Order: sequence, then C-alpha cells, then structure tokens
Amino acid sequence: MSAWPKPVLAEVSRHLEAAYPFEGCGVILREEGTGALRIRPLRNAAGNPRQAYAFAPEEWLSVCMEADARAERVVCVFHSHVDAPATFSREDALRAAPEGYPLLPKVSYLVGSIHCGSVHYVSEYEWCAGNFVSRTG
Ligand SMILES: [Zn+2]
Repeated sequence: MSAWPKPVLAEVSRHLEAAYPFEGCGVILREEGTGALRIRPLRNAAGNPRQAYAFAPEEWLSVCMEADARAERVVCVFHSHVDAPATFSREDALRAAPEGYPLLPKVSYLVGSIHCGSVHYVSEYEWCAGNFVSRTG
C-alpha cells in the first residue's frame, strides 16, 4: 500500500497507463518550504521497456536542475510493471542500490501493477537496514 494522497496516486497512475504497454517511470518531488508535491514523468529509455525502465539521462538531468532551482527534493521514484505484480524486483533493487547502498537515499519506490492498460495495485518500498522493504502507512 501507499500513503500518498489520492490525487497524487491518480496522476501517477495516469502516466503509467499512458506508457502502457511499456513500463512508465518518473519521480515525485516535494517543495522544501511548502511541502507541495509535483509529479514529473520521465521518458523510459530502457532498451527493453516492457521489462525495465531507465530514466532518459537528459530528462533526469533537467529534473535535477529544476529541483535545485525550485527548492524541491525528489522523494519518490515510480514505475510500472506491465502485466506483472507490483513487487519490487531483484532488478529494481540492483538498479536502486547497485553497490548495496541506495543511490538516492531517503527516496521511496512506488511500483504500479498494470494489466490491460489500467493500474490495479500500487505498492511502495523504502530502504531500511540494508534492504528494500514494503512500506506500510
Ligand atoms: Zn520494476
């Protein structure tokens, strides 16, 4: 399950559904002062986009620059699993922490399970004591 407000999850789901039958991906940013959330979809540049996702490097760079300029922080990375469960996979864990340490500390990972073009279930994982664990509440 996930603790994000319904409108945020609805917007994330819309992006994931638009990317179907490929995996969709993007980030949620939070503004430091106000706490305002912003959803920023990113182009999936993976070579096998039905089974994997990779942020298009130039888009990821501009997100990082935007975030700096707007005093925002990336708080969540989201992506979809196409006709597969919303379980954080071994590949997801390797990508998020290739050397056994998270590349983006304090960022959670939202996975949306999408079947026939609609998101059916969303789960969220976070780094805890050396592993990605399902986030509860
Ligand atoms: Zn995945």
